[in-house]
Amino acid sequence: MYFVADPFIESLSKDPSSSNRPRMVPHGFYSEVTPKQPTHPKLIHANSKLFKALGVFKKELSDAKTIGLLSGQLLPKERSPFAMNYGGHQFGQWAGQLGDGRAIHLGSVEERSNSTASHPKLWQLQLKGAGPTPYSRSADGFAVLRSSIREYLCSEAMQALGVPTTRVLSLVGTGDQVLRDVMYNGNPKYEPGAIVARLAPNFIRFGSFELPASRDQKTALKELTDACIAHYFPEIKYKGPKAYEAFFEEVCKRTASLIIHWQRVGFVHGVLNTDNMSILGLTIDYGPYGWLEPYDPDWTPNTTDAAQRRYRFGNQSQVGLWNLYQLANALYPIVGETTALEAGLDAYKEAYEKGYLEMMAKKVGLDLLLKKGDKKERNAIQQLISTLENTLCLTETDMTIFFRTLANWETTSEKDPQIKQIFGTLYKAFYEPKELQGSVLRSWKLWLASYQELLEVQGVADRERQQSMNSVNPKYVLRNYMAQMAIEAAEQEDYSMVHSLFELLQKPYEEQVSQERWFAKRPDWAKNKVGCSQLSCSS
Ligand code: AMP
Ligand code: MG
Repeated sequence: MYFVADPFIESLSKDPSSSNRPRMVPHGFYSEVTPKQPTHPKLIHANSKLFKALGVFKKELSDAKTIGLLSGQLLPKERSPFAMNYGGHQFGQWAGQLGDGRAIHLGSVEERSNSTASHPKLWQLQLKGAGPTPYSRSADGFAVLRSSIREYLCSEAMQALGVPTTRVLSLVGTGDQVLRDVMYNGNPKYEPGAIVARLAPNFIRFGSFELPASRDQKTALKELTDACIAHYFPEIKYKGPKAYEAFFEEVCKRTASLIIHWQRVGFVHGVLNTDNMSILGLTIDYGPYGWLEPYDPDWTPNTTDAAQRRYRFGNQSQVGLWNLYQLANALYPIVGETTALEAGLDAYKEAYEKGYLEMMAKKVGLDLLLKKGDKKERNAIQQLISTLENTLCLTETDMTIFFRTLANWETTSEKDPQIKQIFGTLYKAFYEPKELQGSVLRSWKLWLASYQELLEVQGVADRERQQSMNSVNPKYVLRNYMAQMAIEAAEQEDYSMVHSLFELLQKPYEEQVSQERWFAKRPDWAKNKVGCSQLSCSS
């Protein structure tokens, strides 16, 4: 593998010590560390498409040397691995220094396929679960197979869905056992350890800025912000405070766009602490995340957040804003006044509101009317969407199946097509079809009548609308129970489902006839099962 110098990292100051011992690191954005040697590293899955696209490896992915590198067994010759230092707000409270407790950067690699000589595309390559770092605090720095499979499958599923995300290159079993208390209820047990090699242009978080700000380290804060702008936001041509304002506004807009994508596909991140917010607007740190099966804005998969539900589906946009406030506070010392930062936050609210409406209009196939229509039609679409959000909650209705089957809605000339279509086209989406009566049925009929009316005003052919809707409403997502089934088999050393789900989720919008079984509601056994509907941060 060819590691290259990363000018971004080179421009950041380094912790003078290079011990792995857990400790406070008062100065430096990163600390050089040594990964722990795994006992028997074994490749479980390789993302060969990305591997090829990168074109940076001398050897095949299955080659022992490559596996050695991707498991921390062999170290790159070119530079020392390192862990990043950052802080963060966790569940609304300032938590101080956090840092990469179990992620180790091996270095940067240059993408061959899409690079030009003047603009090589650089990826930072991290191993997650390769042992303790100065930032491990009281934890061990390892990762278990279960959480590694979840991160591995979901990262590439998100990429295929068109949602900005960090990427993965390989999943390796370490051959070591890791002790975990899954539900934090005093029942620890040994689980197989694993390492995910993940990639991103960078892994800088909101918390990377909060830490120097909390320590009154204005020079360091400036150093990080200047480097971020120079390397990742080259379109910002200003210098000094104006550049920081433009940078903040851009981060606000990217964050809005990211969260709109999550709402589109029904993804709940689960731990939106500021240390898990990427400065590039990527989905980062897949932990106790989940996918909405019955549409429910109050749902969160994270048991640690069960009481407060701070990170529930319907609150992700508000939490995005709250997190951006923390970033604004962190940047304040170098911006010097609040007006521009407030403007950035307003830009977030505006971008979110506008983008959310456009996204939902496209999901229901009324995007052309939204674009071309006047204020009256815009209001009608807005009303339709908000009524839909309420109607979907009346009885358990599968989000993915509902939107995918809504595309099959036929604008017939029949007088009362609703009943026929509710019990035909949309039927599959309802968990308790017997509840489709009385006021529930009336609400659906009313909603569908308004929908039908707007479709007629829009006047787009059904077939054309269907194609457009199917391009934003996935047929296949990583349902919580699917990941759990792959995990349970993998824990018995059967990795076939990891392979098959990985393939399935490469084409989430396509009809895959042989895979129709995954276009189905969550089975009953998965309703309250640990790992399916309930996930903890223990990983
Ligand atoms: P998370 O919310 O899962 O992204 O993790 C919050 C913090 O805990 C980060 O600083 C992680 O690096 C750290 N952390 C989580 N799990 C472990 C672990 N097993 N060993 C060391 N640090 C960890
Ligand atoms: Mg994290």
